[in-house]
Amino acid sequence: MSDVIHRRADCRACGSNDLELVFNLKPSPIGDAYVSSEKVNVEQPSYPIDLFMCKQCGLAQLIDVIDPNILYGEYIYVTESSMGLSEHFRAYAKSVIAQCNLSKGSQVIDIGSNDGTLLRGFQESGMNVLGIGPASHIAAQATANGITTIGKFFTPDLAREIVATYGPAKLVTANNVFANIDDLRSWVDGVNQLLAVDGVFVFESYYLADLVQNMVFDFIYHEHLSAFSVKPIQALFQRIGLELVVVERVATKGGSLRYFVQRPGGPIANDGSVQKLLEEEESMGLYRKETYIAFADKVNALKDETKRFLIQAKSEGKSIAGFGASITGTTLIYHFEIGEYLDYLVDDNLAKQGLFSPGHHLPVFPTFALYERKPDYVVILAWRFAEPFIRNNQAYLMEGGAFIVPVPEFKLVSGNAS
Ligand SMILES: [Zn+2]
Repeated sequence: MSDVIHRRADCRACGSNDLELVFNLKPSPIGDAYVSSEKVNVEQPSYPIDLFMCKQCGLAQLIDVIDPNILYGEYIYVTESSMGLSEHFRAYAKSVIAQCNLSKGSQVIDIGSNDGTLLRGFQESGMNVLGIGPASHIAAQATANGITTIGKFFTPDLAREIVATYGPAKLVTANNVFANIDDLRSWVDGVNQLLAVDGVFVFESYYLADLVQNMVFDFIYHEHLSAFSVKPIQALFQRIGLELVVVERVATKGGSLRYFVQRPGGPIANDGSVQKLLEEEESMGLYRKETYIAFADKVNALKDETKRFLIQAKSEGKSIAGFGASITGTTLIYHFEIGEYLDYLVDDNLAKQGLFSPGHHLPVFPTFALYERKPDYVVILAWRFAEPFIRNNQAYLMEGGAFIVPVPEFKLVSGNAS
Protein backbone atom coordinates (compact mmCIF):
# COMPACT_ATOMS: atom_id res chain seq x y z
CA MET A 1 0.00 0.00 0.00
CA SER A 2 0.95 3.66 -0.11
CA ASP A 3 2.48 5.99 2.47
CA VAL A 4 -1.01 7.21 3.27
CA ILE A 5 -2.10 3.93 4.82
CA HIS A 6 -0.39 0.94 6.35
CA ARG A 7 -1.77 -2.38 7.53
CA ARG A 8 -0.53 -3.56 10.87
CA ALA A 9 0.04 -7.27 11.45
CA ASP A 10 -0.39 -7.34 15.21
CA CYS A 11 -2.96 -6.35 17.83
CA ARG A 12 -2.36 -2.79 19.08
CA ALA A 13 -3.24 -3.82 22.64
CA CYS A 14 -1.40 -7.11 23.21
CA GLY A 15 0.88 -7.57 20.17
CA SER A 16 -0.59 -10.92 19.13
CA ASN A 17 -0.68 -11.77 15.42
CA ASP A 18 -3.82 -13.82 15.88
CA LEU A 19 -6.27 -11.38 14.31
CA GLU A 20 -9.54 -12.45 12.73
CA LEU A 21 -11.71 -10.48 10.31
CA VAL A 22 -15.16 -10.22 11.93
CA PHE A 23 -16.98 -7.53 9.94
CA ASN A 24 -16.31 -6.75 6.33
CA LEU A 25 -17.40 -3.16 5.62
CA LYS A 26 -17.22 -1.43 2.26
CA PRO A 27 -14.16 0.83 1.97
CA SER A 28 -14.85 4.56 2.21
CA PRO A 29 -13.00 7.84 1.84
CA ILE A 30 -11.90 9.57 5.05
CA GLY A 31 -15.30 10.11 6.69
CA ASP A 32 -14.93 13.75 7.64
CA ALA A 33 -13.09 14.84 4.49
CA TYR A 34 -15.81 17.20 3.21
CA VAL A 35 -14.31 19.35 0.45
CA SER A 36 -14.78 22.86 -0.92
CA SER A 37 -16.00 23.61 -4.44
CA GLU A 38 -12.43 23.96 -5.79
CA LYS A 39 -11.80 20.30 -4.98
CA VAL A 40 -14.93 18.65 -6.37
CA ASN A 41 -13.01 17.50 -9.42
CA VAL A 42 -10.32 15.83 -7.35
CA GLU A 43 -11.08 12.17 -6.76
CA GLN A 44 -10.91 11.02 -3.14
CA PRO A 45 -9.60 7.48 -2.66
CA SER A 46 -11.40 4.94 -0.50
CA TYR A 47 -9.60 2.97 2.21
CA PRO A 48 -10.62 -0.23 4.03
CA ILE A 49 -12.49 -0.05 7.34
CA ASP A 50 -12.77 -3.77 8.06
CA LEU A 51 -13.18 -4.72 11.71
CA PHE A 52 -10.84 -7.36 13.11
CA MET A 53 -10.81 -9.05 16.49
CA CYS A 54 -7.75 -10.16 18.41
CA LYS A 55 -8.27 -13.78 19.40
CA GLN A 56 -5.76 -13.33 22.21
CA CYS A 57 -7.10 -10.31 24.15
CA GLY A 58 -10.46 -9.65 22.46
CA LEU A 59 -9.78 -6.13 21.17
CA ALA A 60 -11.99 -5.23 18.18
CA GLN A 61 -9.95 -3.01 15.90
CA LEU A 62 -9.15 -1.64 12.47
CA ILE A 63 -5.73 -2.72 11.27
CA ASP A 64 -5.61 -0.38 8.26
CA VAL A 65 -4.17 2.82 9.67
CA ILE A 66 -4.18 6.14 7.82
CA ASP A 67 -1.31 8.56 8.47
CA PRO A 68 -2.67 10.91 11.19
CA ASN A 69 -1.27 13.95 9.35
CA ILE A 70 -3.60 13.13 6.48
CA LEU A 71 -6.47 11.84 8.59
CA TYR A 72 -6.59 14.94 10.79
CA GLY A 73 -5.12 17.34 8.23
CA GLU A 74 -8.19 19.53 8.02
CA TYR A 75 -9.54 18.90 11.46
CA ILE A 76 -12.42 21.32 12.02
CA TYR A 77 -14.11 19.84 15.04
CA VAL A 78 -14.01 21.93 18.22
CA THR A 79 -15.75 20.59 21.33
CA GLU A 80 -18.12 23.49 21.90
CA SER A 81 -19.54 23.30 18.37
CA SER A 82 -21.23 20.05 19.39
CA MET A 83 -24.40 20.98 21.26
CA GLY A 84 -25.00 19.56 24.72
CA LEU A 85 -21.44 18.37 25.21
CA SER A 86 -20.38 21.20 27.55
CA GLU A 87 -23.15 20.36 30.03
CA HIS A 88 -22.11 16.73 29.88
CA PHE A 89 -18.52 17.66 30.69
CA ARG A 90 -19.47 19.93 33.59
CA ALA A 91 -21.45 17.13 35.22
CA TYR A 92 -18.59 14.78 34.41
CA ALA A 93 -16.04 16.96 36.27
CA LYS A 94 -18.27 17.14 39.35
CA SER A 95 -18.87 13.43 39.60
CA VAL A 96 -15.25 12.41 38.93
CA ILE A 97 -13.95 14.86 41.58
CA ALA A 98 -16.27 13.24 44.10
CA GLN A 99 -15.41 9.68 43.08
CA CYS A 100 -11.65 10.28 43.19
CA ASN A 101 -11.99 12.35 46.34
CA LEU A 102 -9.81 15.11 44.82
CA SER A 103 -8.83 17.99 47.07
CA LYS A 104 -8.52 21.56 45.79
CA GLY A 105 -5.27 22.27 43.99
CA SER A 106 -4.91 18.69 42.65
CA GLN A 107 -3.25 18.38 39.25
CA VAL A 108 -5.69 17.31 36.53
CA ILE A 109 -4.48 16.55 33.00
CA ASP A 110 -6.79 16.01 30.06
CA ILE A 111 -5.35 14.30 26.97
CA GLY A 112 -7.14 15.34 23.80
CA SER A 113 -8.43 18.40 25.63
CA ASN A 114 -9.50 20.26 22.49
CA ASP A 115 -10.65 23.79 23.47
CA GLY A 116 -10.54 22.94 27.20
CA THR A 117 -14.26 22.50 27.80
CA LEU A 118 -13.85 19.56 30.18
CA LEU A 119 -10.93 21.15 32.04
CA ARG A 120 -12.95 24.31 32.62
CA GLY A 121 -15.29 22.21 34.75
CA PHE A 122 -12.33 21.05 36.85
CA GLN A 123 -10.87 24.54 37.03
CA GLU A 124 -14.17 25.93 38.32
CA SER A 125 -13.89 23.38 41.13
CA GLY A 126 -10.44 24.62 42.16
CA MET A 127 -8.17 22.09 40.40
CA ASN A 128 -4.89 22.87 38.63
CA VAL A 129 -5.52 21.94 35.02
CA LEU A 130 -3.38 21.17 32.00
CA GLY A 131 -4.54 20.22 28.53
CA ILE A 132 -2.80 18.25 25.78
CA GLY A 133 -4.00 18.20 22.18
CA PRO A 134 -2.39 17.67 18.77
CA ALA A 135 -3.76 20.79 17.04
CA SER A 136 -1.42 23.66 17.94
CA HIS A 137 -3.83 26.44 16.87
CA ILE A 138 -6.62 25.04 19.08
CA ALA A 139 -4.11 24.63 21.95
CA ALA A 140 -3.01 28.27 21.60
CA GLN A 141 -6.62 29.42 21.66
CA ALA A 142 -7.41 27.33 24.77
CA THR A 143 -4.32 28.72 26.53
CA ALA A 144 -5.37 32.27 25.65
CA ASN A 145 -8.76 31.46 27.19
CA GLY A 146 -7.17 30.43 30.49
CA ILE A 147 -6.73 26.67 30.03
CA THR A 148 -2.98 25.99 29.65
CA THR A 149 -2.70 23.54 26.78
CA ILE A 150 0.28 21.83 25.14
CA GLY A 151 -0.19 21.54 21.37
CA LYS A 152 1.53 18.21 20.75
CA PHE A 153 0.77 14.53 20.18
CA PHE A 154 0.87 12.65 23.48
CA THR A 155 3.90 10.34 23.92
CA PRO A 156 5.81 8.82 26.88
CA ASP A 157 8.54 11.44 26.28
CA LEU A 158 6.05 14.28 26.54
CA ALA A 159 4.65 12.65 29.71
CA ARG A 160 8.12 12.70 31.31
CA GLU A 161 8.57 16.38 30.39
CA ILE A 162 5.18 17.22 31.87
CA VAL A 163 5.90 15.43 35.16
CA ALA A 164 9.24 17.26 35.41
CA THR A 165 7.50 20.62 34.96
CA TYR A 166 4.11 20.20 36.64
CA GLY A 167 4.54 17.16 38.88
CA PRO A 168 2.55 13.90 38.63
CA ALA A 169 -1.21 14.01 38.13
CA LYS A 170 -3.89 12.99 40.61
CA LEU A 171 -6.25 12.61 37.71
CA VAL A 172 -5.68 11.99 34.01
CA THR A 173 -8.69 12.09 31.71
CA ALA A 174 -9.21 11.23 28.05
CA ASN A 175 -12.54 11.31 26.30
CA ASN A 176 -13.32 9.91 22.89
CA VAL A 177 -9.66 10.03 21.87
CA PHE A 178 -8.49 6.70 23.22
CA ALA A 179 -10.15 4.87 20.32
CA ASN A 180 -8.13 6.96 17.86
CA ILE A 181 -4.71 5.86 19.10
CA ASP A 182 -2.70 3.45 16.95
CA ASP A 183 0.30 2.86 19.23
CA LEU A 184 -1.86 2.02 22.21
CA ARG A 185 0.80 0.40 24.39
CA SER A 186 3.18 3.33 24.15
CA TRP A 187 0.27 5.68 24.88
CA VAL A 188 -0.76 3.88 28.08
CA ASP A 189 2.90 3.79 29.13
CA GLY A 190 2.74 7.58 28.89
CA VAL A 191 -0.36 7.66 31.08
CA ASN A 192 1.45 5.45 33.59
CA GLN A 193 4.27 8.04 33.66
CA LEU A 194 1.83 10.87 34.36
CA LEU A 195 -0.05 9.25 37.23
CA ALA A 196 0.80 10.00 40.85
CA VAL A 197 1.03 7.03 43.25
CA ASP A 198 -2.62 7.60 44.16
CA GLY A 199 -3.54 8.93 40.70
CA VAL A 200 -6.54 7.78 38.67
CA PHE A 201 -6.94 7.57 34.90
CA VAL A 202 -10.52 8.04 33.71
CA PHE A 203 -11.54 7.75 30.09
CA GLU A 204 -14.67 7.38 28.04
CA SER A 205 -15.08 5.56 24.78
CA TYR A 206 -17.96 4.08 22.81
CA TYR A 207 -18.65 0.50 23.86
CA LEU A 208 -18.33 -2.45 21.49
CA ALA A 209 -21.25 -4.29 23.14
CA ASP A 210 -23.53 -1.28 22.56
CA LEU A 211 -22.24 -0.86 19.02
CA VAL A 212 -23.33 -4.42 18.25
CA GLN A 213 -26.59 -4.39 20.19
CA ASN A 214 -27.71 -0.93 19.06
CA MET A 215 -26.63 -1.46 15.42
CA VAL A 216 -24.24 1.50 15.56
CA PHE A 217 -22.05 0.01 12.80
CA ASP A 218 -21.54 3.51 11.35
CA PHE A 219 -19.33 4.31 14.33
CA ILE A 220 -16.73 2.25 12.52
CA TYR A 221 -14.57 4.64 10.49
CA HIS A 222 -10.88 5.35 9.97
CA GLU A 223 -10.42 7.55 13.07
CA HIS A 224 -11.90 4.86 15.30
CA LEU A 225 -9.05 2.38 15.35
CA SER A 226 -10.38 0.44 18.36
CA ALA A 227 -13.86 -0.44 19.57
CA PHE A 228 -13.19 -1.06 23.23
CA SER A 229 -14.76 -3.44 25.68
CA VAL A 230 -13.95 -4.44 29.24
CA LYS A 231 -11.94 -7.62 28.70
CA PRO A 232 -9.13 -6.20 26.49
CA ILE A 233 -8.97 -2.95 28.49
CA GLN A 234 -8.48 -4.86 31.71
CA ALA A 235 -5.62 -6.85 30.12
CA LEU A 236 -4.06 -3.75 28.54
CA PHE A 237 -3.60 -2.05 31.91
CA GLN A 238 -2.80 -5.21 33.86
CA ARG A 239 0.22 -5.59 31.60
CA ILE A 240 1.73 -2.37 33.06
CA GLY A 241 0.66 -2.96 36.65
CA LEU A 242 -2.50 -0.83 36.62
CA GLU A 243 -5.93 -2.02 37.64
CA LEU A 244 -9.25 -1.41 35.90
CA VAL A 245 -11.34 -0.95 39.03
CA VAL A 246 -14.72 0.49 37.96
CA VAL A 247 -16.72 0.84 34.73
CA GLU A 248 -19.85 2.92 34.26
CA ARG A 249 -22.30 3.01 31.38
CA VAL A 250 -22.74 6.40 29.67
CA ALA A 251 -25.42 7.20 27.10
CA THR A 252 -23.25 9.24 24.70
CA LYS A 253 -22.10 8.09 21.24
CA GLY A 254 -24.73 5.38 20.89
CA GLY A 255 -23.56 3.80 24.16
CA SER A 256 -20.22 4.35 25.90
CA LEU A 257 -18.29 3.21 28.95
CA ARG A 258 -16.39 5.31 31.45
CA TYR A 259 -13.36 3.38 32.72
CA PHE A 260 -11.52 4.05 36.01
CA VAL A 261 -7.91 2.82 36.18
CA GLN A 262 -5.50 3.13 39.11
CA ARG A 263 -2.49 1.54 40.80
CA PRO A 264 -3.35 -1.45 43.04
CA GLY A 265 -4.67 -0.13 46.36
CA GLY A 266 -5.61 3.25 44.82
CA PRO A 267 -8.37 5.58 46.05
CA ILE A 268 -11.33 3.99 44.23
CA ALA A 269 -13.09 0.97 45.68
CA ASN A 270 -13.90 -2.05 43.54
CA ASP A 271 -17.70 -2.05 43.23
CA GLY A 272 -18.02 -5.26 41.20
CA SER A 273 -18.92 -3.39 38.00
CA VAL A 274 -15.93 -4.73 36.05
CA GLN A 275 -16.74 -8.34 36.92
CA LYS A 276 -20.42 -7.80 36.10
CA LEU A 277 -19.71 -6.47 32.60
CA LEU A 278 -17.08 -9.15 31.95
CA GLU A 279 -19.78 -11.74 32.61
CA GLU A 280 -22.28 -9.90 30.39
CA GLU A 281 -19.73 -9.75 27.58
CA GLU A 282 -19.18 -13.50 27.78
CA SER A 283 -22.87 -14.32 27.90
CA MET A 284 -23.68 -12.16 24.86
CA GLY A 285 -20.82 -13.79 22.92
CA LEU A 286 -18.95 -10.51 22.42
CA TYR A 287 -15.71 -12.37 21.68
CA ARG A 288 -17.19 -14.98 19.36
CA LYS A 289 -17.14 -14.70 15.61
CA GLU A 290 -20.76 -15.93 15.26
CA THR A 291 -21.95 -12.77 17.01
CA TYR A 292 -20.42 -10.65 14.24
CA ILE A 293 -21.74 -12.87 11.47
CA ALA A 294 -25.24 -12.29 12.87
CA PHE A 295 -24.51 -8.56 13.26
CA ALA A 296 -23.28 -8.24 9.67
CA ASP A 297 -26.32 -10.16 8.41
CA LYS A 298 -28.62 -7.68 10.14
CA VAL A 299 -26.73 -4.66 8.83
CA ASN A 300 -26.65 -6.08 5.32
CA ALA A 301 -30.38 -6.86 5.37
CA LEU A 302 -31.02 -3.16 6.17
CA LYS A 303 -28.66 -2.19 3.39
CA ASP A 304 -30.54 -4.36 0.86
CA GLU A 305 -33.90 -2.94 1.88
CA THR A 306 -32.72 0.67 1.77
CA LYS A 307 -30.85 0.34 -1.49
CA ARG A 308 -33.73 -1.49 -3.17
CA PHE A 309 -36.15 1.23 -2.10
CA LEU A 310 -33.91 4.01 -3.41
CA ILE A 311 -33.28 2.28 -6.75
CA GLN A 312 -37.04 1.95 -7.24
CA ALA A 313 -37.68 5.57 -6.22
CA LYS A 314 -34.95 6.83 -8.54
CA SER A 315 -36.34 4.80 -11.45
CA GLU A 316 -39.63 6.62 -10.88
CA GLY A 317 -37.83 9.95 -11.16
CA LYS A 318 -38.10 10.85 -7.47
CA SER A 319 -35.73 13.31 -5.82
CA ILE A 320 -33.90 12.10 -2.72
CA ALA A 321 -32.00 14.08 -0.07
CA GLY A 322 -29.96 12.80 2.87
CA PHE A 323 -30.01 14.29 6.37
CA GLY A 324 -26.72 14.34 8.29
CA ALA A 325 -23.39 15.55 6.85
CA SER A 326 -21.38 13.72 9.47
CA ILE A 327 -18.56 11.24 9.60
CA THR A 328 -20.93 8.37 10.45
CA GLY A 329 -22.97 9.25 7.37
CA THR A 330 -19.96 8.50 5.17
CA THR A 331 -19.69 4.95 6.53
CA LEU A 332 -23.42 4.46 6.05
CA ILE A 333 -23.53 5.86 2.51
CA TYR A 334 -20.58 3.72 1.43
CA HIS A 335 -21.53 0.48 3.13
CA PHE A 336 -25.13 0.78 1.91
CA GLU A 337 -23.88 1.86 -1.56
CA ILE A 338 -26.52 4.59 -1.79
CA GLY A 339 -24.40 7.65 -2.66
CA GLU A 340 -25.39 7.62 -6.32
CA TYR A 341 -29.11 7.83 -5.44
CA LEU A 342 -28.83 10.91 -3.25
CA ASP A 343 -29.10 14.37 -4.83
CA TYR A 344 -27.70 16.37 -1.91
CA LEU A 345 -27.36 16.41 1.88
CA VAL A 346 -28.83 18.74 4.47
CA ASP A 347 -27.37 19.56 7.87
CA ASP A 348 -27.62 22.50 10.27
CA ASN A 349 -23.92 22.25 11.14
CA LEU A 350 -22.57 25.52 9.71
CA ALA A 351 -19.09 24.02 9.35
CA LYS A 352 -20.38 21.60 6.72
CA GLN A 353 -22.69 23.84 4.72
CA GLY A 354 -21.37 24.86 1.34
CA LEU A 355 -19.02 21.88 1.29
CA PHE A 356 -19.28 18.59 -0.63
CA SER A 357 -19.46 15.11 0.86
CA PRO A 358 -16.42 12.79 0.85
CA GLY A 359 -16.13 10.80 -2.37
CA HIS A 360 -19.55 11.37 -3.95
CA HIS A 361 -19.27 15.16 -3.55
CA LEU A 362 -22.91 15.67 -2.71
CA PRO A 363 -23.50 19.35 -1.87
CA VAL A 364 -24.45 20.16 1.74
CA PHE A 365 -27.31 22.62 2.30
CA PRO A 366 -28.99 23.89 5.47
CA THR A 367 -32.08 21.91 6.53
CA PHE A 368 -34.44 24.62 5.30
CA ALA A 369 -33.44 23.61 1.76
CA LEU A 370 -35.97 20.79 2.21
CA TYR A 371 -38.70 23.42 2.09
CA GLU A 372 -37.37 25.08 -1.05
CA ARG A 373 -36.30 22.03 -3.00
CA LYS A 374 -39.08 19.77 -1.73
CA PRO A 375 -37.42 16.38 -2.29
CA ASP A 376 -39.77 13.38 -2.47
CA TYR A 377 -37.72 11.53 0.16
CA VAL A 378 -35.21 12.34 2.86
CA VAL A 379 -32.98 9.47 3.99
CA ILE A 380 -32.10 10.06 7.65
CA LEU A 381 -28.42 9.13 7.60
CA ALA A 382 -28.06 10.49 11.16
CA TRP A 383 -30.57 7.84 12.24
CA ARG A 384 -29.77 8.06 15.97
CA PHE A 385 -31.27 11.55 15.81
CA ALA A 386 -34.27 10.52 13.67
CA GLU A 387 -36.89 11.22 16.31
CA PRO A 388 -36.10 14.90 17.01
CA PHE A 389 -35.42 15.52 13.31
CA ILE A 390 -38.81 14.16 12.27
CA ARG A 391 -40.51 16.01 15.11
CA ASN A 392 -38.93 19.30 14.00
CA ASN A 393 -39.79 18.79 10.35
CA GLN A 394 -43.47 17.88 10.46
CA ALA A 395 -44.13 20.69 7.96
CA TYR A 396 -42.10 18.83 5.35
CA LEU A 397 -44.28 15.74 5.89
CA MET A 398 -47.44 17.86 5.67
CA GLU A 399 -46.28 19.12 2.30
CA GLY A 400 -46.19 15.55 1.04
CA GLY A 401 -42.59 14.54 1.74
CA ALA A 402 -41.50 11.29 3.34
CA PHE A 403 -38.63 10.22 5.58
CA ILE A 404 -36.68 7.01 5.26
CA VAL A 405 -35.10 5.77 8.48
CA PRO A 406 -32.59 3.10 7.42
CA VAL A 407 -31.38 1.85 10.84
CA PRO A 408 -32.00 0.15 13.32
CA GLU A 409 -35.15 -0.92 11.42
CA PHE A 410 -36.02 0.23 7.93
CA LYS A 411 -38.95 2.60 8.27
CA LEU A 412 -40.85 4.83 5.86
CA VAL A 413 -42.47 7.84 7.55
CA SER A 414 -44.99 9.82 5.52
CA GLY A 415 -47.51 12.52 6.43
CA ASN A 416 -50.40 10.09 6.26
CA ALA A 417 -48.81 7.52 8.52
CA SER A 418 -47.75 9.77 11.40
ZN1 LIG B 1 -4.80 -8.42 21.44
